[in-house]
Amino acid sequence: MRRFAGETPIGRKRRARKMARLLADTHPDAHCELDFSTPLELAVATILSAQTTDVRVNQVTPRLFAKYRSAADYAAADRAEMEELLRPTGFFRAKTNSLIRLGQQLEEQHGGVLPRKLEELVALPGIGRKTANVILGNAFGVPGITVDTHFRRLANRFGWVDETDEVKIEFLVADLIEKRDWTMLSHRVIFHGRRVCHARKPACGACTLAALCPSYGTGPTEAVPAAKLLKGPRARDLAAAAGVDPQLVPAAAVLAPEEP
Ligand code: SF4
Repeated sequence: MRRFAGETPIGRKRRARKMARLLADTHPDAHCELDFSTPLELAVATILSAQTTDVRVNQVTPRLFAKYRSAADYAAADRAEMEELLRPTGFFRAKTNSLIRLGQQLEEQHGGVLPRKLEELVALPGIGRKTANVILGNAFGVPGITVDTHFRRLANRFGWVDETDEVKIEFLVADLIEKRDWTMLSHRVIFHGRRVCHARKPACGACTLAALCPSYGTGPTEAVPAAKLLKGPRARDLAAAAGVDPQLVPAAAVLAPEEP
């Protein structure tokens, strides 16, 4: 982790909250990218999102959700049929296993209803702490921090933490950011990781957080190369928000797939 020399814990907290506000301005479209209409559907979609993209999951779930509407439906599923539906998401045998066992356990222990407590969620098949926080934050409105690969990288680059363990990062960031903001912060950090602060070449010269980020300079700081690194449908808005001429963003960047 790069640090600002002499920064105190309270200084770090103030800076983190400023960055969180800037992220809210930078990514007003941040949201959970998995399609769902019930807590059970979100749990299923999140389990399926392991090792694949949200876009791929959203292509598979309409047929899946039409066929399996309740925990009992998953519990009684025909394995071969479900495997065929899940095949495009990869690891489809393991995922089928998780979904059938999830349905069975929900039926046996929770009356077929997804529980609302973290410790009960993480005891269910296929649901780890990250998945449980996604469900709590997005289906139940209980604030949760979702530490995925983007969040882990950015929290370190931002100088918020010096840590690789996802659970420790979750607790450290929870101490910096107000609880009511946890769920949306997670989406915004992940959007920033997908569109601006890439793993290999972050667009430092076209980043709204540059003045507050100790890792500024990890990627190009000149406007021209940095603008070319922005990705996603709002790439030109992102450039403008960072004070960079939006015309420097090539059309291909706007259409380019974001980092998964
Ligand atoms: S300044 Fe660079 S390293 Fe820091 S958040 Fe922006 S893109 Fe990432």
